[in-house]
Amino acid sequence: MATVRAITSVLAKLAPEELAYDWDNVGLLLGDYSREVKRVLLALEITEEVVTEALEKSCELIITHHPLIFQPLKKINTQHQLGKILQQALVAGLNIYTAHTNLDLAAPGLNDYLAELLGLDKCQPLQIMTEDQNYKLVVFIPREYYHQVKDAIWEAGAGFIGNYSHTSFRSKGTGTFKPLAASDPFLGKRDELTEVEEIRFETIVTERSLQVVIKAMLAAHPYEEVAYDLYPLANQGKQYGLGRIGRLKEKLRLDDYLPLIKAKLALPSVKYVGSGDRIIERVAVCSGSGADLIRAASDAGADLYITGDIKYHDAQLAEQIELGLVEAGHYETEIIVRDFLNNYLTGKLSDVALFRSTINTNPWSVF
Ligand SMILES: [Zn+2]
Repeated sequence: MATVRAITSVLAKLAPEELAYDWDNVGLLLGDYSREVKRVLLALEITEEVVTEALEKSCELIITHHPLIFQPLKKINTQHQLGKILQQALVAGLNIYTAHTNLDLAAPGLNDYLAELLGLDKCQPLQIMTEDQNYKLVVFIPREYYHQVKDAIWEAGAGFIGNYSHTSFRSKGTGTFKPLAASDPFLGKRDELTEVEEIRFETIVTERSLQVVIKAMLAAHPYEEVAYDLYPLANQGKQYGLGRIGRLKEKLRLDDYLPLIKAKLALPSVKYVGSGDRIIERVAVCSGSGADLIRAASDAGADLYITGDIKYHDAQLAEQIELGLVEAGHYETEIIVRDFLNNYLTGKLSDVALFRSTINTNPWSVF
């Protein structure tokens, strides 16, 4: 039986909570990690209607992109919307988990999915925000315990380089030690110099996984005192950034690309800046509110930038710097999170049913 912990830790592999911005609020916002879950509702955000939908579908967990609790709470007034939702969810034993800016930055993340929907290839982050700090972990293992220890290290999350897992190097050698008076040695005798055939196993681990990996390594290793080294690496780690820039497989006139954008994002209409006969090849995207990246999109060589929450003066700026711009809507560029999470989680959870919310939470209507 899956628990909230089991399900959310699968999601945290894609979008580690530590990737979220300091101002954000992600993770388990309401509930209990030990609760059993059979049915999960995937939603952009939570309204009273979404809670009702979760209860009608007998879901025990809602996974959202926008955090229900954002500002620190001092009071819970159940006459107000947030208080009502919290009361309803608590009474029903609902758990609420959020992946917000960590899902925006994740690679692959929501922005990669948006770029893929819009036909983009060879995508890179538009603005790098952070990168992994990597360590080399070296541990000396008696030969008979080699498989047990290295498997524990890999299972805990070490050994990833780019698109490769289980990376390592090993060499054979001889370890020496003399157990002192207060020791309780696994091998050898007190006050006697002991030599053991050992394997030097080395692999790579990110700072984020370091504590979990070391704990797993120590638990699997037979020695009382495990000899291991950690080297901080100066190599560039995996980079995480906002937005994406990529290429269309074939150049298109803006006039010909707009219907595709409209269809893929189910837009009621498309507001854009630029001439219809502009040739589009390099395209930048940012889900949600991305007006701050207009200059970054232009500097990265984009012919067109697609995002939401664009103000009048942002549009003027795009026109001045001759960047094509599409206002695709905050809601419309993020509601795709339901499909993205559904695609990612499908096949990774046994005995758990996934449901995509069918509630339209967009406050805007178009006449
Ligand atoms: Zn948003």
